[in-house]
Amino acid sequence: MKKLELHWQILIGMVMGVLFAFLMVQFEWGPKIVSDWVKPFGNIFINALKLIAVPLILASLIKGISDLKDISKLSKMGGRTIALYITTTVMAVTIGLGVVNIIKPGNSITEDTRNELVVNYRGDAESRIAEAERQKDAGPLKALEDLVPSNIFMAASDNGNMLQVIFFAIFFGIGLILIPEEQATPVKKFFDGFNEVILKMIDLIMLAAPYGVFALLAALVVEAPSADLFKALAWYAFCVVLGLALMLCAYLLIVWIFTKKSPAFFMKGMSPAQLLAFSTSSSAATLPVTMERVEEHLGVEEEVTSFVLPIGATINMDGTSLYQAVAAVFIAQAFGMDLSFSAQLGIIVTATLASIGSAAVPGAGMVMLVIVLAQAGIPEAGLALIFAVDRPLDMCRTVINVSGDATVSMVVAKSIGKLGEPKVKNWDDNYKS
Ligand code: ASP
Repeated sequence: MKKLELHWQILIGMVMGVLFAFLMVQFEWGPKIVSDWVKPFGNIFINALKLIAVPLILASLIKGISDLKDISKLSKMGGRTIALYITTTVMAVTIGLGVVNIIKPGNSITEDTRNELVVNYRGDAESRIAEAERQKDAGPLKALEDLVPSNIFMAASDNGNMLQVIFFAIFFGIGLILIPEEQATPVKKFFDGFNEVILKMIDLIMLAAPYGVFALLAALVVEAPSADLFKALAWYAFCVVLGLALMLCAYLLIVWIFTKKSPAFFMKGMSPAQLLAFSTSSSAATLPVTMERVEEHLGVEEEVTSFVLPIGATINMDGTSLYQAVAAVFIAQAFGMDLSFSAQLGIIVTATLASIGSAAVPGAGMVMLVIVLAQAGIPEAGLALIFAVDRPLDMCRTVINVSGDATVSMVVAKSIGKLGEPKVKNWDDNYKS
């Protein structure tokens, strides 16, 4: 019998996870069984993916940069990557603002509902605000200062320090380009082999993906807050999802215009990574799979993926910035505030910066939203309004974050002649072993 393609297997795993959870919540003992016996498998799956992130970035970036042969190629690629990342993020915020200003979801929230939401989620919101305060207290150059690690082993010991690891890998790669060929060759060969091993490990982890997402979604549904509150927020959630869908269309258009690849080609190649982003809510955890899919299924050469994607996973979050724009205006509307045009322009700037500063982990976008709210003079307590629906929206925005990185890597690759045919013609060949 022909084996089902991976993205179908993952999708089935997700649906089964949700159905299983709905069944389990019918019994008093059900949620505990899910938390004790199912959720750990989801966590194991995410941990296995995260485990790969640091070694993958090190190996593939060092290999990718040393393959470039000369530094001018690196600066050309770097300049285009950053310019495209910023452009797509500003585009995303603008789409978000457009949607939320047209639909005005905040106007439909009644005073009672608003009070109920604020009371229910006050505690959660306060802890996010405190976390954001800590980040806000830092000086203006703190982010730049943090980029350079004082100890590579300490940097590599925390997945939250991804940018520091990237910095080290780029620096190391540049060093490797600059030394004589005969000394560089054994080091390069080592990293080539190391990289292959890591890619194989990703294949093996992906064999467990359908079960992993089953466990993740089952746990999520069982732990979700009551459905009533979700209803009050339906319009807001609709705006975010509509904005994200428009952004996805924009990516497909960009890919089509610049690389002549069809939307079906892009979606088919990326779907396992997108489904994984949805299930894990973390672009960092999804990164290994994103890299593999973009390289083997979208035809972007490794020199480009190894540079563009790890950086994108940390700084390019179009879905997050779009969500922050919608959420900020929604909260303002719910509190009856009228945001001026210049306040909205301010949101474009802060949401772009806040999304760059957001970590690629679940819920990070919400922490940075506090900064957007504070800058625009919107009450930070409004965070409590949107708490109930944040997780599902986080899942959706992470899909867009990952798709945005893939789009930019295709465009950058095309612009420097590094976009070829996919290595894997049959979509799931590399998972059959
Ligand atoms: N979960 C998102 C990501 O990992 C970040 C966020 O918006 O919370 O890309």
